[in-house]
Amino acid sequence: MARLVLKFGGTSVADIDRIRNVARHVKREVDAGHDVAVVVSAMAGKTNELVGWCREASPLHDAREYDAVVASGEQVTAGLLAIVLQAMGVNARSWLGWQIPLKTDDAHGVARIGDIDGSDIIRRFEEKQVAVVAGFQGIAPDNRIATLGRGGSDTSAVALAAALQADRCDIYTDVDGVYTTDPRIAPKARRMNKIAFEEMLEMASLGAKVLQVRSVELAMVHKVRTFVRSSFDDPDAPEMSDFDNPPGTLICDEEEIVEQEVVSGIAYSKDEAQISLRRVADRPGVAAAIFGPLADAGVNVDMIVQNISESGEATDMTFTVPSADLAKAVDVLEKTKAETGYDAIQSEAGLTKVSVIGIGMRSHTGVAATAFKELAKIPVNIRAITTSEIKISILIDSDFTELAVRRLHSVYGLDKV
Ligand code: ASP
Ligand code: MG
Repeated sequence: MARLVLKFGGTSVADIDRIRNVARHVKREVDAGHDVAVVVSAMAGKTNELVGWCREASPLHDAREYDAVVASGEQVTAGLLAIVLQAMGVNARSWLGWQIPLKTDDAHGVARIGDIDGSDIIRRFEEKQVAVVAGFQGIAPDNRIATLGRGGSDTSAVALAAALQADRCDIYTDVDGVYTTDPRIAPKARRMNKIAFEEMLEMASLGAKVLQVRSVELAMVHKVRTFVRSSFDDPDAPEMSDFDNPPGTLICDEEEIVEQEVVSGIAYSKDEAQISLRRVADRPGVAAAIFGPLADAGVNVDMIVQNISESGEATDMTFTVPSADLAKAVDVLEKTKAETGYDAIQSEAGLTKVSVIGIGMRSHTGVAATAFKELAKIPVNIRAITTSEIKISILIDSDFTELAVRRLHSVYGLDKV
């Protein structure tokens, strides 16, 4: 017998029929004797509608009231799933964030989870009661409802799994796992059986939209084995009862992965823009004077490259920002000119960052060289390169995105055979 947290996303609970289907997944695990807590999202499209209503009511609105409105979507699905489960003879009870309580900080709209008291839920496991928890919400120190930022139900689920010391957190969604790259642009992408937390963190940050990035961080910190699987699989298919090996992708500690590939996946993010500051002064405080104001303006900066200056007087600084933030970033930078003393700002939008990810590259040489050779064959020009222990990111023209992703996917042996 195990303890499980099951999370179902918006498309999985989009209408009553689908909620019934979800209930069959839940019942299967209950019938197998497991303790089960379920976390649900709002019905597909609901949160967008609620956010839209807030904006329509007033473009500038109180974040506490925004939370009161947008948290309602999950209240509805939690109640409905409990009703359907009860009708199927499963002992179930819904829980809102404040009832658990799931405590958050006071950043309304983008709150972070603090403490979760799982004791009531655990006590009811003894009566074989299923907890159906509204995702995306908690209670802030001001005693008001707080929401966790878009996609936050993933984080609710992982945090609850940590609090309940669950054996696994199953994230049921509309895709059947995590792929070696985006199957829409690379048909040879394969579903991975396992991926390490760190790799998944990179994949999620770089645009693999299966999970909220924050949920992966939490899973990594608390070592919550997290399993991505499809809610559209037949709940009663024989392979679904294979508890240790159901269809999907396990995100886990690298030690659990016996056959580690050097490269596990290729991620990409389009709509990047590059900014180069030519000849900024080469002295202490200059980087702070550039990136401080950008951070204050809420611009998300990535791929920072600074060269060693030739003369010791000035150097070039290049970095990327999302294309949508380019105008704002340039505006901010123009105001720092007195302090940073650059000659010129050059910028270009319409770029893509392609990244090769794998913890195996820590102990292998030549991984980066392989990527560069492959891109040279296309040929595609490399504009900037950054690396970490487990990742190589390359900035290229967006026109080459598909081709570059497919070729890198092949060259590292990731293609489906
Ligand atoms: N319903 C919320 C959203 O759409 C939270 C979630 O589904 O994860 O962002
Ligand atoms: Mg989601």
